[in-house]
Amino acid sequence: METVIPVEWLIPHKIANGWKFQCSTNLRNLVATNRAALFFRQLVILLEQDYHLVNFHFKIQHNRKKIDQLEIFVFCGDDHIEQEPEPVSICSSCDVTHPLSQSTLLSEQQYTYAWLDFRNRPKLILTPKRHIERLSELKDENGEMEAFWYDTVEIIDRECDNINELIYPVLSLNHGTFRKHAHMHLKIDISKDIWETKIVPRHKEKLDYLEQLLKQTELISACFTERHLQQEIQKGVIGNMNNELKQTDVQTKSISK
Ligand SMILES: [Zn+2]
Repeated sequence: METVIPVEWLIPHKIANGWKFQCSTNLRNLVATNRAALFFRQLVILLEQDYHLVNFHFKIQHNRKKIDQLEIFVFCGDDHIEQEPEPVSICSSCDVTHPLSQSTLLSEQQYTYAWLDFRNRPKLILTPKRHIERLSELKDENGEMEAFWYDTVEIIDRECDNINELIYPVLSLNHGTFRKHAHMHLKIDISKDIWETKIVPRHKEKLDYLEQLLKQTELISACFTERHLQQEIQKGVIGNMNNELKQTDVQTKSISK
């Protein structure tokens, strides 16, 4: 089957602080018709080579009224002056033997790992196995780019029990200064209802262990930059803070890194 991406899908619609792209299909269908790699490749070429964007945030979601329409928001902006993440001693997305990795790893695929969020937020995370930092670094020739999106859909279906597009998770992927963890990671935001009814019961043991682990700062500090570690301690995500306070604090963050 010849794969072609409709030109309309790559037309940027200007919004505050960025652009919006619209695909007249849903993510499941984009993957099922083997067009995900081609679409996202063309999109990152447009953004990185034509627009010269380095620092940007992707937000990928289904239109709330037209569920067969996938919307990709690209936010950038010159008000983002934070620095690139500094190197950490241990990349918990690469070193799967680290306790923090062990407590969050859900599954291993050919090119990806699926995880619980290592900061214990209601998210699932998908990372490429290779330590790369941008979507554009995924390869086409061995099917790595296509597999990344295929695995995204599979993991959402597996963990959320074939969720429909009306309540499909919002996905986000940060580039450059928009991220705190260097290793490229797709964040899959899970709604409170799905989190509490599907994810927590299924992974209770891992989540309990993670909660204990996050209190032991010395055990996990090598996985964070000093600056990031201090921020997380202040927020109460890491260290010995009252758990109720931590949950409230984490849930009030909207676009988080
Ligand atoms: Zn890594």
